[in-house]
Amino acid sequence: MPSLAVIGHPVAHTRSPAMQTAALAELKLAGEWTYGAIDIEPGSFEAEVAELAAAGDYAGVNVTLPHKEAALALADEASEGARAIGAANTLTFRDGRILADNTDAGGVLRSLPAGIGGGADAAGAAGASARRALVLGAGGAARAAIWALAQGGEGAPDAEGNPTLVPSFEVDVWNRTPERAVTVAAELGGRAVSDPPAADYALIVNTTSVGLHGEDPFASLPLAATDFHPGQVVFDIVYGPEPSALLAAAEDRGATTIEGLEMLVQQGALSLRIWTGAEPSIEAMRTGARRS
Ligand code: NAP
Repeated sequence: MPSLAVIGHPVAHTRSPAMQTAALAELKLAGEWTYGAIDIEPGSFEAEVAELAAAGDYAGVNVTLPHKEAALALADEASEGARAIGAANTLTFRDGRILADNTDAGGVLRSLPAGIGGGADAAGAAGASARRALVLGAGGAARAAIWALAQGGEGAPDAEGNPTLVPSFEVDVWNRTPERAVTVAAELGGRAVSDPPAADYALIVNTTSVGLHGEDPFASLPLAATDFHPGQVVFDIVYGPEPSALLAAAEDRGATTIEGLEMLVQQGALSLRIWTGAEPSIEAMRTGARRS
């Protein structure tokens, strides 16, 4: 019976087991596959993962803080995205080898509304301003978001269930510590900015941890509630029990909002697809993640 798990430290709060178990049940795989959580301290990560991979009963694992860089480092092979981002959140154990992927990047793209930025018709009527994005932050989550948006790729299916394409975006990067924005933007295909014209962006993505503990986003981020407007998409990858203050303000102003839980679901669905080859039910995963 193949096992799966999320590895982190701490990991007690994770919603992944409930979300992935809901997906496995919907795929009628729950009798065969299991998904748990394993707390591993940084000092023993490499040895314990090597042991899991060698034992043969694990098909793969998701990896979360603080192990994403170490996960890439121990892999025998890595996807282009994981290498570019410098971190992996998905490891697959196959034929004695460890393969690394970063599904956070695909999770960002698949969380966006289908057709954003003009969709496949990227050079069409939507125009260049529809493909301008602002990423706030320069940490691990920002790296995945910047790379994903600068590259473009597979988006969410449209209303008929057909695959859609997110075009590549021109990505501006703002960070509290400006030097980090400069480094990260140069590495991943963005442009560092210190005073972004927030109202001009078609898409704003908050990848900073601001809001996690109820902080006022407008006190720490280069945004004002009046920047938001209809036609703009505001994505806050931080998630908690309530919609964030940032998303509440964006929604009040008529912007389209995306919560961080959607990214958790989408990155998890992509990981499950890698391991099982099956397309999981996004709706079942949303319900599982919300319930946990
Ligand atoms: P990280 O590497 O520690 O980066 C944290 C970022 O937040 C840095 O850019 C930091 O700026 C900024 N920051 C922290 N406090 C700030 C403040 N008071 N004002 C302005 N900026 C501040 O963390 P991460 O791994 O990127 O994760 C960031 C958040 O995303 C976390 O809340 C995490 O839970 C969430 N996340 C969600 C998902 C999902 O699936 N939804 C996936 C991954 C991460 P400095 O460089 O100046 O310190």
